[in-house]
Amino acid sequence: MAAPDAARLRSRRTRLRALADGEGLGAMLITAPANIRWLTGFTGSYGALVQLPGRDVLITDGRYRDQAGWQAPGVEVEVAPADRIGAAAALLEPEVTETRPAGFEPSGLLWSEGDRLRELVGAATPAPALVEELREVKDDTELASIRAAARAGMDALDAVLPALAPGVTELEVARRLELAMRDAGAEGVAFDSIVAFGPNAAEPHHLPTSRALARGDLVKLDFGAAVDGYRSDMTRTVVLGPASARQREVYEVVRAAQAAGLATLRDGVTGGEIDAACRDLITAAGLGEAFSHPTGHGVGLEIHEAPRVRARAGGSIAAGTPLTVEPGVYIPGFGGVRIEDLAVVAPDGHELLTTTTKDLLEL
Ligand code: ZN
Ligand code: ZN
Repeated sequence: MAAPDAARLRSRRTRLRALADGEGLGAMLITAPANIRWLTGFTGSYGALVQLPGRDVLITDGRYRDQAGWQAPGVEVEVAPADRIGAAAALLEPEVTETRPAGFEPSGLLWSEGDRLRELVGAATPAPALVEELREVKDDTELASIRAAARAGMDALDAVLPALAPGVTELEVARRLELAMRDAGAEGVAFDSIVAFGPNAAEPHHLPTSRALARGDLVKLDFGAAVDGYRSDMTRTVVLGPASARQREVYEVVRAAQAAGLATLRDGVTGGEIDAACRDLITAAGLGEAFSHPTGHGVGLEIHEAPRVRARAGGSIAAGTPLTVEPGVYIPGFGGVRIEDLAVVAPDGHELLTTTTKDLLEL
């Protein structure tokens, strides 16, 4: 996998400049790490990007001087130890006015940094999530990385299924899954893996424990890999078989709901439509209360990013947007079933990236 090239990065910054201009902003201060990475290629942990008319300046500290130079082509690099906001303010203040203020990212600043920015720059205003909006539709290099991450996740699952035997613990399975993703070419994990056995599967976001796997347990595995900074995300639920009638019944409700959600995907679909397709089927089965979380989320440099896939979410989702469809049913004492795929919205459908079988596996 290759880093995005200079022309691609420059065109992203040009698009942001046009959006910010349309919002009446005279300059932009970008501080969210994923946004800095997407706009410049820079992956260091300390930075701020100042977008001025005709200039892009990346502020970082001495640790990253060299890295910023080679990772962020076409951007001026300024070193400002421990005071990215002071350095940004000095660049912004002469360029902005009350009518053309500097836009900043409220979610990318500490409270204290926001205070300092407003103190130093007379005309500064919270900007809408412009970079997040631009990041929703992925280009071909981004999709290639996400496909590779999804592939590493599926290969890891194949490698780990044989380890699901009586006595193995949730922590042990999580460790094996994460190692297997790295063995399959991932640079790391997309998030802390969820491995839940038996009644623990009733918690949507259960953290692995030393619980040992027992016959008859549902096993919920939610995990993903990272490649070039891009994430994957999938969930499969299996049973250390044979499955009970109730387990199979709940599983088939979730499977049908998940298929209905995927079937809505096309250019222009809304998050609310996808959510309703899944939720209506689960509600019709009398399990509506047991589906206690949103249906999905966008995936990219961050594991949860735009668009939202939840009840009544409006705003049309364009072709080229990767997102998850992950309905679930969680019943205290019984356990839970979630099935999650990562798919890319296509003009008239979708490309499924996580193609592991959704037949109920009885191990
Ligand atoms: Zn997941
Ligand atoms: Zn997810």
